[in-house]
Amino acid sequence: MATTEQKRDYYEVLGVDRSATRDQIKQAYRKLALQHHPDRNKAPDATAKFREIAEAYAVLSDDTKRREYDATGHAGVSQRWSADDLMRDFQFGDFFGGRFGDLFGTFGDVFGRRISRDQGMARGADLRYDLELTLEEAARGGDRLIQITRSEKCRDCKGSGAKAGTNPVSCPDCGGTGQKQHVQTGKGVRMVTLTSCAKCHGRGLFIEIPCPLCQGHGVEFTPHSLKAQIPPGVDDGMVVRLAGQGEPTVSGATSGDLLIRIHLRPHRSFQRQGDDLYTAVSISFAEAALGTKTSVPCLDGEAVKAAVPPGTQSGTALRLSGKGMPRLGGKGKGNLFMIVEVRTPTDLTPRQRELLEELAKLEAKRSQ
Ligand SMILES: [Zn+2]
Ligand SMILES: [Zn+2]
Repeated sequence: MATTEQKRDYYEVLGVDRSATRDQIKQAYRKLALQHHPDRNKAPDATAKFREIAEAYAVLSDDTKRREYDATGHAGVSQRWSADDLMRDFQFGDFFGGRFGDLFGTFGDVFGRRISRDQGMARGADLRYDLELTLEEAARGGDRLIQITRSEKCRDCKGSGAKAGTNPVSCPDCGGTGQKQHVQTGKGVRMVTLTSCAKCHGRGLFIEIPCPLCQGHGVEFTPHSLKAQIPPGVDDGMVVRLAGQGEPTVSGATSGDLLIRIHLRPHRSFQRQGDDLYTAVSISFAEAALGTKTSVPCLDGEAVKAAVPPGTQSGTALRLSGKGMPRLGGKGKGNLFMIVEVRTPTDLTPRQRELLEELAKLEAKRSQ
């Protein structure tokens, strides 16, 4: 970690006054973030700039963190929150169409790997949950009841991990701090690495006689149900993050997050590509030649009338705008493309055969 004195003032980074309102801060961030987003800005320092802007915003947009920063500056903030914790409740995706992919793709790269859970203050582990949705459910979004198994303080030892009637003792290896500090100095940068004490697993306490129910872990696993809000328009592979709904910790450090990965079931009549949907519509040979109006079923169960122009070839995609999937972030809907399939007539009646033969003769004459 570089010394905090090298950091620029967060207000200066965002170009706002110290008395700026939340909205002014948000606007300044949005403008700068779009300008320096590494997806758009190919300058070599764009990523570093973007990181600086995002960090400044993460702190100034959070009342508690902003107060701490106003009072104590960078030093106070970095003492209280790790770089990871500064960013954790912060929705970067909001300004980029709300795509969760941004949060876990591009932004994951920008901020580098999250600090390993085993280092420093052991934050609770993230939990993963796989949620399977139909295409209709993904389009609707809304609340889903999720069942997870999460650890809780052990009933017998109340989380201490020590056999009832005994108490954990201060860890002899780390003197009860739970951490071991390694300091390296080089090239004017002071590197401080904190690692969890191996003997007490960062708890600062050592258990002589472990609790038989939890084997000294202090936790037992219990089922929980919780409500997750699924935004309309989620796609396969996206991750919805519920902050603080992961594993709690015995030490009282921040709980982990619950990461809900979306899996979409294939649909019988719609294919999805981004916000667009594709569906096949079958029309007769005569309708394709003369043009027609056909009814197209949409994903929401309603049907819309669509005009098929005269002379439409089989395989043509006709666009029905605004009838696709909802765009994440609530900005309208994608398109529905109907793929026209022309049915070649079979089982002809004598009269149909007569007409088609006559048509064939006319066509043969025209092509002479
Ligand atoms: Zn126990
Ligand atoms: Zn220890």
